[in-house]
Amino acid sequence: MINILLKNISIMLIISMVDKVYYSYEELDKLCRDNGSIIKKEFNPDVILAIGGGGLIPARILRNSIDVPIYVITMSTYDENNVSIEQPRIIQWMDFSILRNKRILIVDEVDDTRKTLKYLVEKLIKEDNLLSDNLGFFVLQNKKKSKAIELNELDVGYYKSGENVEDKWIVYPWE
Ligand code: 5GP
Repeated sequence: MINILLKNISIMLIISMVDKVYYSYEELDKLCRDNGSIIKKEFNPDVILAIGGGGLIPARILRNSIDVPIYVITMSTYDENNVSIEQPRIIQWMDFSILRNKRILIVDEVDDTRKTLKYLVEKLIKEDNLLSDNLGFFVLQNKKKSKAIELNELDVGYYKSGENVEDKWIVYPWE
């Protein structure tokens, strides 16, 4: 009986590990550095806007190649009980009037459903009067899956992902 139980537990453990992809800090550092110099040439941002929590460390690594100030907002697509929610929740916002004529590179760790990016870009344009051409976006990984909005419908001047990956749960080294 105990043997069967142990066997089932190890099968479940193997399945849950297979469904996850693990990245090392070195791999992500390289993704940021390689893309940082390209983004600087192609978009040339004046500031980086990190979406906390996941975008904080990528934004800081990116600043090694794009030496501009980092601003931070915090958003979540999960509620207090860690249940996925339809509309992203704002935890901390900032006064965007100081960035009105700046080129802003928004940074997050992963483009999953793209709900966060869609919600954020629409809010920045409609409510904070930022120009879509001044908004760029960088993520370490873009998951290949159906999105809340297609890239050609998204009102941003620039989009770049470090790499396109399968739709699996990514575990980052800072988690
Ligand atoms: P969205 O679905 O709006 O594109 O992504 C919302 C947020 O969900 C991301 O910023 C990230 O914090 C979280 N998320 C989505 N997929 C993953 C994943 O595979 N791994 C981790 N660690 N977070 C994820």
